[in-house]
Amino acid sequence: AADTAMYSAKNAGRNRYCFFSHEMGERAAERMNIEQGLKLAVEKNHLVLHYQPQISLADGRLIGIEALMRWRHPSEGMVMPARFIPVAEETGSIVALGNWALHTACRDTGSLPLRLSVNVSALQLGRDDFIDTLHALLDQTGFPPSQLEIEITESTLQVIEHSRQRLAALKSLGIGIAIDDFGTGYSSLSLLKHLPIDHVKIDRSFVQDLPDDHSSLAIVRAVIVLAHSLGLRVIAEGIETEAQRITLCELGCEEGQGYLFGRPQPLADLQALQQRWRAGRWMPE
Ligand code: C2E
Ligand code: MG
Ligand code: MG
Ligand code: MG
Repeated sequence: AADTAMYSAKNAGRNRYCFFSHEMGERAAERMNIEQGLKLAVEKNHLVLHYQPQISLADGRLIGIEALMRWRHPSEGMVMPARFIPVAEETGSIVALGNWALHTACRDTGSLPLRLSVNVSALQLGRDDFIDTLHALLDQTGFPPSQLEIEITESTLQVIEHSRQRLAALKSLGIGIAIDDFGTGYSSLSLLKHLPIDHVKIDRSFVQDLPDDHSSLAIVRAVIVLAHSLGLRVIAEGIETEAQRITLCELGCEEGQGYLFGRPQPLADLQALQQRWRAGRWMPE
């Protein structure tokens, strides 16, 4: 019942009166806490980035890393994005948070010969000063733009009227573009046709039931064929098992990311992890 109340309250819009269940009052209080805490988190240096390896499925080479935000909360410990990113999206603080992530990731990983992927939200990408901001932080950090990849979700692209021009501007800076969580949104196919995209990231929900689930297998196979016929490379998210890795590799998926290869972790731990791999390459046990 609480979920129903929340759903209709959300749909009713901001200015309507609505009933709050007890549970919803608690959730509203938590949101307010998060919103207020986030304002301080950037200035107090409570945000941290963890990095997750992205590897070449054919040979185990480390190709890139994805920066993923965590909030080291003074009393609650490490808070994960699912708890604060949606609130930050709603209140607009995602713009400051996201720009902090871009700047910090570029500053900290510029010396590595790796592609850096950073998630960018609709609000960030949609701002008129986004390209200028990006330009400035690339200048300040000296990060090579050709090593940077921006991850955006399908829904992001629908929100932004001028996403085509915006992405074209990114491309002209040499920055790569990946569609994140591919398959979970709408109009995937027309986006692929109209936008200058380099990478498609297959959502974890399609990977998790491989190889036994027939419909997951059919969807993943079709996405890979489609992406390849449009000249795009494919990265699979959420690979946890050797069977999933082998299946994706056999289907021609170029890259993979998931707990099988490594969890998101501090940069120093990631470098130590890579040193433990044989000849710097991930190998099956
Ligand atoms: P995403 O960009 O799709 O990132 C992948 C998520 O899947 C990460 O969750 C990662 O920890 C998780 N993951 C990776 N491999 C596995 C696996 O093998 N098994 C399972 N169960 N999960 C796996 P995380 O770090 O909690 O981030 C969640 C989402 O929060 C991200 O999804 C992204 O949409 C958002 N996010 C994180 N950092 C940022 C940021 O700096 N800016 C923006 N705008 N969004 C961010
Ligand atoms: Mg991502
Ligand atoms: Mg994703
Ligand atoms: Mg995801």
